[in-house]
Amino acid sequence: MAELTEADRYLLERIGRGDGEGWQQLVERYQGRLLAFARSRLSRKEEAEDLVQDTFIAFLEGLKNFRENASVETFLFTILRRKLIDFFRGKQMRVTFLQEALAKSSSDSSYAPVSLQAPEETASFYMRREEQSEALRAVLADTLDGLLERLRKAENFRDLQIVEMIFYAQLRNKDVARLMNMDEKAIALIKHRSLKEIKSHVAQSTKLSRDEIMAVDSPAWEESPAATSMLTEIWESTRPTCPKRTTVGRFLLGTLEKPWQSYVDFHLNQLGCQFCRANLDDLKKQTTEEPRAFQSRVMQSTIGFFRPRA
Ligand SMILES: [Zn+2]
Repeated sequence: MAELTEADRYLLERIGRGDGEGWQQLVERYQGRLLAFARSRLSRKEEAEDLVQDTFIAFLEGLKNFRENASVETFLFTILRRKLIDFFRGKQMRVTFLQEALAKSSSDSSYAPVSLQAPEETASFYMRREEQSEALRAVLADTLDGLLERLRKAENFRDLQIVEMIFYAQLRNKDVARLMNMDEKAIALIKHRSLKEIKSHVAQSTKLSRDEIMAVDSPAWEESPAATSMLTEIWESTRPTCPKRTTVGRFLLGTLEKPWQSYVDFHLNQLGCQFCRANLDDLKKQTTEEPRAFQSRVMQSTIGFFRPRA
């Protein structure tokens, strides 16, 4: 799950004070998983290293925009992902195997959760909509968090997987049914129940306008491009179902309890979360010498951000 840890908070505070050693520690902590993520997309090692180096520079440049409701890891992954999309000249990049498979198989344009803005709209309209969707986004993120936390506490891994596939990967009931070896009607029921919970939570929110509440409450809201793109975007920026790195480590050692072991296996290998797979790859090869050389390269390129030490 994406949250700012005490250790990260401490490092950020040191970096904010211009402490180069704090920065060095942060680079050391995150470089491996970022390189693994970049290398899952790029065949050449040098290209991956260039993009990760740029990511660290952009992180420092954008530090004042860092929102504390995301983890440092997710913030870094988000920057790197944008750099990868730029690198591939704007080609969309899915972050799970299932989304990728879906994008490839759908010939129609119904799966295109990107920009929805019409060009003729005025700047003030944009601004207003930005503010509105920011509030809705926050309420939805909160609602999903509650729903997923409840499923996790109950160790209801079956529904957890189904909810991930429906609302994150935007799979159709038919496909979810096939993957879970379940009846399509049963999947539809779980989707219906989850949506009811989401919608009633949104309806009770005091932070939203009437229009927003009514839009979410409308029957086919969840099928609209605005809703699917927002749900996916929330998932990717808060990663509410991603296991912690320590959990991925325990998965690797096979020391998780059986239901968790198979849930993490699903998340990594069936849903195919690329963020968590990058952590897995990084954990697998943490013993090599490679990290040191790369780290000193990043330190060289960011030296201007820190005062020389007296
Ligand atoms: Zn994940």
